[in-house]
Amino acid sequence: MNINQYNADLHIHSRHSDGSLSVGEIIEISTKQGLKTISITDHDTISGIPEARSIAGDTIEIIPAVEMSSNLGSLDVHIIGYFIDCEDSTLLEYLDSFKQHRMERVISIVNRLNNDGIKIEFEQIKMIAGNCSLGRPHIAEALIDGGHVRSINEAFFRYLGQGQPYYEPKKEVHPSEVIRLIKECRGIPVIAHPGILRADSIIYELIMDGCQGIEVWHPEHSSHDRNHFHEIAIKNGLLMTGGSDCHGRRGKAVQIGSTGCNEKEIINLKNFRDRLSITDSFK
Ligand code: AMP
Ligand code: FE
Ligand code: FE
Ligand code: ZN
Repeated sequence: MNINQYNADLHIHSRHSDGSLSVGEIIEISTKQGLKTISITDHDTISGIPEARSIAGDTIEIIPAVEMSSNLGSLDVHIIGYFIDCEDSTLLEYLDSFKQHRMERVISIVNRLNNDGIKIEFEQIKMIAGNCSLGRPHIAEALIDGGHVRSINEAFFRYLGQGQPYYEPKKEVHPSEVIRLIKECRGIPVIAHPGILRADSIIYELIMDGCQGIEVWHPEHSSHDRNHFHEIAIKNGLLMTGGSDCHGRRGKAVQIGSTGCNEKEIINLKNFRDRLSITDSFK
């Protein structure tokens, strides 16, 4: 039985990046929620997708995706690539090197914390996180385990969030670079949670840079935001997507499927992808 108003959730994080749920748990919950289609959109990694496909079989549709990090000055800009080719060697090489960068950044933050007497071990983070795409939530968890903070939120508020003493930006990557990478492997670049970007001028810049869709439905969006992004999508001929951005217990308390989208958006995405491959075949 579908207890939600949505039958697709196109934005979910797993343990392959900073989510706390395994791919198997995500599929189990999604199925229970009556979802027909999901995307596992881990940060800068596609390592969960083969596992998702093999566990899901015919029970639930998995649209391959990745949430890629980029920035405009100090602003983090996330672009989700849907229907990316998970075997594309350029994409895989890029993601591999980004994973290395994420690890070095975490080591650097841990060293700075340790230098100031806030003792946590990188080895402990590796134990929590395994071989995944590391991020600040993993450091936050080690800070909780070490008794330095009581919650992930507190860890961001006191230590790791932007403007706090141990914040460290990721390396500079212009959104146009990840948009190009996504398109080069036949993916569809979509602006993730535009509500977090705050200024419409940035959304228009991302459209000019080649984004082809916008995430209209996201837990951080008010109904005013949804209407606004819906209008931007219509005016600019953009695809529309939606998802919960669920991180399990590592994120805000959102359930898989509590925000998402429906059949219509999935059909539009697929039609767009099919047109792309027809165009490709004439090249
Ligand atoms: P990173 O990718 O290492 O820059 O870490 C960013 C991730 O941290 C986001 O994807 C969220 O999952 C999480 N995050 C960011 N801000 C907060 C916050 N204030 N409280 C809890 N989690 C957060
Ligand atoms: Fe995250
Ligand atoms: Fe994001
Ligand atoms: Zn996300």
